[in-house]
Order: sequence, then C-alpha cells, then structure tokens
Amino acid sequence: MFRFALRPAKPGAGSPANRPALPIRGWSRIGAAVLVTVLLLGALAFVYWKTRPLDERAVVEISGQLRALKELEARWDTLLLRSATDTERGYESAVNLVPMVGKTLRALQQSSTRLSSSTLQDKLPDMIGAFQEKNAVTVRFLSESNFVTTSLPEAQQWFIEYLSALRTTRRVDETTRQALLNLDRVATQAAADLGAFAIDGSTERARSINDALTAIGEARPDYTTARLTIAREALVKLGREVVSRKQLSVELFKVISESTAGQELDAVITGFETELRVAAAEQQRYRTALIWYAAALLALLAYFGWRLAQSYRMLNQVNDDLKDINESLDRRVTARTAELSSALAELQQSETQLIQSEKMSSLGQMVAGVAHEINTPLAYVKNNLGMVDDRLGTIVDLIEHFDQLLRMLQSTDTPEQQLREQFARVDRDLEAMRNRNTLGELALLVQDGLHGIDRIAEIVLNLKDFSRLDRLKVQVFDVNQGLESTLLLARHLLKGVEVRKLFGTLPPVLCAASQVNQVFLNLVTNAAQAIEERGPGAGLITLTTKAVGHSVMIEVRDNGKGIPPDVLPRIFDPFFTTKDTGKGTGLGLSISFKIIDQHRGKILVHSRPGEGTTFTVLLPANQSAASVEDDDPPAPAATADGSAPTMPAALSAP
Ligand code: ADP
Repeated sequence: MFRFALRPAKPGAGSPANRPALPIRGWSRIGAAVLVTVLLLGALAFVYWKTRPLDERAVVEISGQLRALKELEARWDTLLLRSATDTERGYESAVNLVPMVGKTLRALQQSSTRLSSSTLQDKLPDMIGAFQEKNAVTVRFLSESNFVTTSLPEAQQWFIEYLSALRTTRRVDETTRQALLNLDRVATQAAADLGAFAIDGSTERARSINDALTAIGEARPDYTTARLTIAREALVKLGREVVSRKQLSVELFKVISESTAGQELDAVITGFETELRVAAAEQQRYRTALIWYAAALLALLAYFGWRLAQSYRMLNQVNDDLKDINESLDRRVTARTAELSSALAELQQSETQLIQSEKMSSLGQMVAGVAHEINTPLAYVKNNLGMVDDRLGTIVDLIEHFDQLLRMLQSTDTPEQQLREQFARVDRDLEAMRNRNTLGELALLVQDGLHGIDRIAEIVLNLKDFSRLDRLKVQVFDVNQGLESTLLLARHLLKGVEVRKLFGTLPPVLCAASQVNQVFLNLVTNAAQAIEERGPGAGLITLTTKAVGHSVMIEVRDNGKGIPPDVLPRIFDPFFTTKDTGKGTGLGLSISFKIIDQHRGKILVHSRPGEGTTFTVLLPANQSAASVEDDDPPAPAATADGSAPTMPAALSAP
C-alpha cells in the first residue's frame, strides 16, 4: 500500500494542490468573475459613450440655420414695412423672404433629426409652426398690400377724373354750385387721405375716406354727366376696395407683428446653446472620469497580470511536481504490476493446487465410497465362492469314489465284498448330495456370485458415466440423466431422505459433463448434509428441472437446517465451511460457482434458517443441438431411499 500527496498538507497553505476541488464553488467563482468583468466593461462602455462628441456637423448646421432664421426674422418687419411703401423693391424683397424662411425651416427640421436634443425635440415643432403661420400670414399680407400699392395710383387717377368731371359740370344755381363745391372739397380731401392712408393705414382715415366715398356715391347733382357718373362709380368701387384691402393688410400686419415666432426662435436658440454648453461640460466631466476609470482598470489589469504570472509560476511548479510524482508513480506502478503479476501467477498456482487438493480429497472420499459400495457385493461373492469351495469338496469326494468304483469294475480280480462296499459308499455320497441339494446350492451360489459381480460392474459403469473420464471435452449433455447418475452415486448419503424428482423435458446442454455432474453432486451432498432429521416424512430433497426461455433450470431444494443470514454472503468464498474438520473443505460451492460461471450460467441461492435451502442453477441451452421444447409438466415424484455405501463428492479439475 503506498500513498502520495502533491505537497505536505499545511493548514491554510492555500496552494492549488491543497485546495479541495469543489466543482460548485469553482463554478460560482467563475460566475462571479464573469459578472464582475461584465459590470466593469459595462461601466467602461457607459462612461465612454457619455464622452462621445456630439455630431459636430449637425450642431454647426443647426446653429447656422438658427442664426439665419434669426437674421431673416430681424429683417422681416422692416421688409414688410418697406413692401407697403416701396412698391417695387420692397415687395420683391419681402416676397423673396417667404421662400427663404420656408427653406431654412425645412433644413432646420431635417438637421434636428440628426441630433438628440431635448430643446429641439420640445420647442422646435412649435417654433416651426409659428414661423409657418407667420409665413402664411405674410403671403396674404403681401398680396393685400401689393393690391393696395398697385391700385392706389389708379384710384388717385379716378379721383382726378372725378374732380375734373365735377368741375366741368354745369352749375345751374347756387345750391348746385354749393353741392358741387362741397363734393369737390370732399373728393379732394378723400384723395389726399387715400394717399396718406396707403402709408399709415389709420382707422380714422379709413373711416373718413369711406364716409367721403359714401357721400360721393350718394350725391346726385341735377345736371350730372355720363363722364361724372362713370368716374364716380369707378372711384367709389375702387376706393372702397383699396380701403378695405388696406385695412385687411393692416390687420394682417398686426397679426405678423404679434407673432410669437421670434420669441420662440429666441427660446430655441437660448435653450439649444445652453444645452450645448451643459453637454460640453458633462462631456468634460465624463472624460475626466474615463481617464480615472481607465487608470483604475489598468491598475486592476496590472494586478491581475501579476497574479496570473504568479499562478503561472505556481502552476509550473505544480506541473513539475506532478511530473516527478507521475514518473515515480509510473515506476511504482511498473514495480507493483510486476509484483501483482507474480502474485497472480502464484495465486493461479495455489488455486490449481487447491483445486487439485480438493479433487484429491474428494477423490479419496470417492474411492472410499466406491470401495464401500463394491465391498458388499464383493463380500457375498467371496462368501459364495467360499461356499462353492466347501461344496466342491463333497463333489471331489464323490468323483474320487466314482473313480475307485470304475477302476474296481474294470479289474476282474476285485472281490465282490469290496465292490459292494464301494457301491454303498458312492450311493451314500450321492444320497448326501441329493439330501443337501448340493448342485442346486452350487447353481444358486454361482448365480448369486454373478449377481454380485453385476452390481460391481454397474457401480463401475455409473462411476464412469459420472466422471466421463473417457470424454472430458465439451459435449451435448442430458441434464436429467446427469442428475440420475448423481443420485445413484450419492445414494449412501441419502439414507432416510426422500428424494422427489420433478424433471421436465429439457433441451440438451452443451457443457463439460463431468464438471456439471460435479456441481450437482456438490449441491446434493450439501442438501443431504443439511438435513439433520431423517426417517419417513422427515428429510426431503426436491430436484426440479425446467426449460426456461433459452436456459435450463435445475433446482435443488432441501428442508434442512437452512443458512443463517450472516453466513449466506460467504458460502461461495473458497475455504468457507461450517462443517466439522474432515467433513467439509469449503471449496465445493466456490468451485461450483466457477464451473457454472465458465459455462456462462448462473447459480443462485435462497435460504430460510430452519426451513431449508434452494440452490438454482441456470445453464444456457444448446440451441444448435436441439430446439428448446415447451415446458412439460414435471414428472411425478420418485422416491429414492438410499441404502448404498458412502460415495462422497467427486471433483475433477476445472
Ligand atoms: P463444504 O460443503 O465443504 O462446507 P461448500 O462450499 O460446499 O463447502 O459449502 C460451504 C458452506 O455452505 C457449508 O459449510 C454450509 O455451511 C453451507 N451450505 C451449503 N449448502 C447448504 C445447504 N443446502 N444447507 C445448509 N447449508 C449449506
């Protein structure tokens, strides 16, 4: 027995070799390391993401667009005012402003999508809406004021025409003259007012112009002319339209002036600039944090690198140790293997010797049994021959007396008296033989002797059958016949034991017959030895055979003392015996187990102390030799009450 340790086990040494390999703790450590790494990397990614610059181009674009819009907004009111006065350039400039604003708004809207700015998201849509509304109102305003500026000269022309027509009208009387003069004054004043109204758009002027136009329209001088009528109607119509359109343009201008677009633009510009400033400051903060974080990570990395280098060194050390240990282990294993091989060889030799000794012991017992078995017939053959020898003396005497009588009869000089005496002697001998029935006795003695010799021949034949010494190889074997010859040889053990045979029809088994017979004999011997009470109705051994699937089942059941549970697991161990010295070797079952195992069979045991034991042997049937027949009901019980001499187990070497 040898042991080795990677290192001397110092408590708390902490070397990897000393640490217990606990897979669950290992996994949880790996999990924690992965989690920490993910968290660190996540934090790094977050900080880095926070330091990323804004889309510079978008910022520049948006800032430029906001500035341009601011400039347009600043120019807006002035241009609108100019458009009202400066008919040509004012209108042109103002009209050009509208698409410029629209274009800038669209560009701004597009650029804002490239930047995630809360100000732009929150305020830009309202601001754009306000500008679009202002633009739309401006378009209407420009149209109205353009109408006014373009129609004003025409209206003034009609004033001139009206005044001229008025002045050429005949003044028939003073009333008419006064009325015409009045109309002239009203029209002149209205013409002047219209010019001023086109510039200032004041409500009072509009009212006075409208009043004047009403007065002009309603006045009907007595001597009116067609020219006056045309001029009056055209003047009133155009004058009213110019006034109302101018009023509308004034209203629209008011709406434009009150538009919140400019303030909203300012709010957007201020908000956007503040946001940019805040973002820049935040970016700066995160940059500083990133630098610190990266430095900390580098330090951590350096620490882990250092630990790794240390672990690597330690690992190398452990590896070297392991290599040394492995080499020494290899050497020890080689030495150990050599030791084991020689031990195995020794063991095999001792096993062979053991089996041999068991065989010798069994053979010794068997020889004693056979001798005992042969002894009885031999004894009465000897006795009979002795008696024949004894009877032969009488016959020899008779033959001798006959011989003397013959010789006397052949000789001529034999006295008659002698002849008579010889006849009487022969007659006496014959009478005695007849009386004693010597010949009948002799015939009987010879017959008995022959019978004894027959018994001996039968025993020898059984012995031969049992051991099959002449056929040691594997052969087709009839299990039932094997059991029969086993019983015959174990007859001496079965005195006072009833043997019940429940034999089924079996397929043949391919096996070493002498070895399987040896197993049967061991089981029957053990069963007989386990039965302590003998006599009618006491000891019973039941032998059952059956074909079970592709196997043959042999069951040896006894109603003996049984096997205690603590003994049961050891009965197949070599040399385990509970029997007295000289009665058991403790090898019978271990050899039986080996034999059955070599035949790829099974041997099972079931026992109840006080009730009996059942050994079950399963042997594979020889499928090629004969097909397995269906299970036949077991044959009726046959009782063999042994009266033969002792015949112990015969073991042949496996
Ligand atoms: P042995 O018969 O020489 O003792 P075995 O190997 O044949 O050796 O048997 C070992 C032991 O098993 C026996 O000593 C006995 O205690 C027990 N045994 C075997 N067969 C029986 C049985 N039929 N009834 C009771 N005990 C048995």
